[in-house]
Amino acid sequence: MSKETPGKVDMEKIVSLCRRRGFIFPGSEIYGGLSSCWDYGPLGVELKQNIKQAWWQAVVRERDDMVGLDTSILMHPQVWEASGHLKGFTDPLVECKSCHLRWRTDDLKESKCPSCGSEVTEPRLFNLMFKTFMGPVEEQASTVYLRPETAQGIFVNFQNVLTTTRKRLPFGIAQIGKAFRNEVTTGNFIFRSREFEQMEIEFFVKPETASDWFNYWLEERLNWYVKLGIKKENLRLRQHDKEELAHYARQCSDIDYLFPMGWSELEGIADRGDFDLVQHSSSSGKSLDYFDEETKEHTVPYIIEPSAGVDRSALAFLCDAYDEEADKDEIRVVLHLHPRLAPVKVAVLPLSRREAVVKLAKELYADLRPCWMVHYDDAQSIGRRYRRQDEIGTPFCVTIDFQSLEDEQVTIRERDTMNQIRVPIPTLKETLQAKLGGEDLFVLPPGGSIWKGEF
Ligand code: ATP
Repeated sequence: MSKETPGKVDMEKIVSLCRRRGFIFPGSEIYGGLSSCWDYGPLGVELKQNIKQAWWQAVVRERDDMVGLDTSILMHPQVWEASGHLKGFTDPLVECKSCHLRWRTDDLKESKCPSCGSEVTEPRLFNLMFKTFMGPVEEQASTVYLRPETAQGIFVNFQNVLTTTRKRLPFGIAQIGKAFRNEVTTGNFIFRSREFEQMEIEFFVKPETASDWFNYWLEERLNWYVKLGIKKENLRLRQHDKEELAHYARQCSDIDYLFPMGWSELEGIADRGDFDLVQHSSSSGKSLDYFDEETKEHTVPYIIEPSAGVDRSALAFLCDAYDEEADKDEIRVVLHLHPRLAPVKVAVLPLSRREAVVKLAKELYADLRPCWMVHYDDAQSIGRRYRRQDEIGTPFCVTIDFQSLEDEQVTIRERDTMNQIRVPIPTLKETLQAKLGGEDLFVLPPGGSIWKGEF
């Protein structure tokens, strides 16, 4: 192998690694692909699930003031009238080729972006929402839309959640789900596509506390990324100025990440005021206010909305974790993914194909699988197997050799430092658990049960 020098992360390297190792494939690839549609492969689906689980754990399960929801992608067409999406999304618009802000043609003085001065696209009647038909015969069926955000499903269920959970203000509702936007310009891999997944919180508060809650969620959401390993210097907050604010927003800040193409939005946090509940209440004729038992007053809560993209988060985690290190005469490509996000937590690697070694390795593999996503690999040299695991971000490799048969010990090799330690087989699981921070796992004693109560 030739002498190489480590380089910096760029989008091409990420796309190539994702393709090569089975994180992300171009959608419908055997038919030449479908523009800006992506399919998550065996490792990508694990990464995405881990991101969603980490989010759900932090914003729903570990909080008293949040509940979850999973609403339908197809909604009553009136929803989109009330929300402003139907009207706002069918005007002739141009889009800035650089910052992707969209402008009505009558807002433009010259054909340059009023925000950053770059070139804009040709104006076109812009329908951001994908249309489809409900009913067996197209002409008679009614038009419905694929939701362009998950938020509206939360607003229209506000009263349902309130009455069934008896939550008091402040409280929030969280939802993860697919959203569809017929974007004019797509690109930068999974950064901007037409089908993507969102993780959204709608947090309902008393109007006078909205600013405090807005700031609270900025900090909370920034720290979620940091806790999962994103370097602080690659994150920033960007406040929207008045002209940039969406029609419903009182204030809005983006959490930007320093992607290979530059600083770009990872998550948006908006103070939406009472816009959504007022709109849906007047459009549906149903009251969507909140009755305060203590003060006996009715109020329409204000809403703070932290809205994140699963795909954009996945891209940010991949870019941040990517590293090339000089390793003797070669380059070691390694994904320093946080263990919670790593698609595979442990790889079991026998150093020989001899029956006794393989038997022991397979026993350990079977023992670890109920606890974590574990790979078993006995093909190729150990160097190449380590390389493969480093490149997909596996935090620990366990190797089994001849000596293991005699001293009942195996070797754990750590991804980031490449340090190796020898541990007795009976303590392997607990050692890995301590290292992986598996606080939310049960490990049962052999043949034992943790059930202590009575039926
Ligand atoms: P942008 O300005 O980049 O188009 P936006 O401000 O329209 O994004 P929001 O409506 O605030 O985005 O959506 C919330 C989040 O959903 C974004 O921060 C992003 O993570 C994700 N998201 C929005 N549009 C897309 C898309 N086309 N592809 C992938 N993720 C998206």
